[in-house]
Amino acid sequence: MGFSTDAIHAGQIPEPITGAVITPIYQTSTYAQSELGKSTGFEYGRTHNPTRQALEKNIATLEKGKYGIAFASGLAATHALMSLVKAGDHIVVSNNVYGGTYRLYELNMKNYGLDFSWVDTTDLKNIEQAIKPNTKMIYVETPTNPMLNITDLKGVAEIAKRNNLISVCDNTFMSPYFQNPLTFGIDIVLHSTTKYLNGHSDIIGGILVTSDEKLHERLRYIQNAAGGVPSPFDCWLVLRSTKTLAVRMKQHEANAIELANFLEQSGLAKKVIYPGLKSHPQHELAKQQMRGFGGMVSADFGDINSAKKVLNNIKIFKLAESLGGVESLICHPASMTHASVPKEERDKMGLTDSLVRFSVGIEDIEDLIEDIKQALFK
Ligand SMILES: *Cc1c(COP(=O)(O)O)cnc(C)c1O
Repeated sequence: MGFSTDAIHAGQIPEPITGAVITPIYQTSTYAQSELGKSTGFEYGRTHNPTRQALEKNIATLEKGKYGIAFASGLAATHALMSLVKAGDHIVVSNNVYGGTYRLYELNMKNYGLDFSWVDTTDLKNIEQAIKPNTKMIYVETPTNPMLNITDLKGVAEIAKRNNLISVCDNTFMSPYFQNPLTFGIDIVLHSTTKYLNGHSDIIGGILVTSDEKLHERLRYIQNAAGGVPSPFDCWLVLRSTKTLAVRMKQHEANAIELANFLEQSGLAKKVIYPGLKSHPQHELAKQQMRGFGGMVSADFGDINSAKKVLNNIKIFKLAESLGGVESLICHPASMTHASVPKEERDKMGLTDSLVRFSVGIEDIEDLIEDIKQALFK
């Protein structure tokens, strides 16, 4: 099936009692058993929920995977991955991942005897060099937030297979509409469903997708054993949202391309970062492994005062953390999403104090461009 057909139908059947076309919100903590030892297969809400199962099947299908394991947040999903390793193990991670991932791994999981190497995974040699005898996992995010650096997924999967490591890709920025890491041989895909998959900025959620039986078994176990599950209502909202993922992503991208071109050609920003621009250092790799370039644009306005002008005077774009919703958002990574990353680390990756990140929404692009102009010239 095509992407949009799957997005609208996968994982969903008309509800058996009434034929309701939309999967109901099964707001229940438990399920009646007809006699001792005889259940419907549904026993307890943390373990099983039909709304959650529909969502898991739906997103797994969009990611070309067999199993989806949903969580209460993207970071709960990131945390669940740690059940695949144990004290003494080593993990290689992209050095420019989501700030919360850095905080969880470096400031918390390290206390449990895990060791992390933060490397620039845009160069595969850095990954190979970081591998030690106790390495168990490679965790990459591509494109990264907010520098939009791109890592070669096929290359990562090959290194992982050769060294018997689990490979993970955070695919939140592209969504399954533009990129499917499993098709390049990556073992597990991670999403913060909070972002494009839900797309309406009204839930927090996460999911892992894999086709590997053993990894699935372990992750399914930890989903129930640690219990970081999403509510039935949140699952229902995401399931409602994936139906429009294709049309939303197309519009996010069309607007982002226009905005990036405008910022670059007008010279209003010192540097514009967008994988769809020819000036992006990995534009060719982006074209190979992504089916589009997404809706995130970063721009360096050269000095903190110009950046502040944009951030403080802009009207349609809302100054807020998060991304991927239908409404446009603007953020200052250095003081917001990446505040927990030390300044010298930020400077090393080019995440300057004058960098501004745009999550380009699906409003009329003329209004968005006008909004940036009025903010800068106010
Ligand atoms: C937001 C985000 C996360 C964390 O997800 P939450 O749903 O906020 O817990 C992880 N990775 C990326 C790329 C994100 O944007």
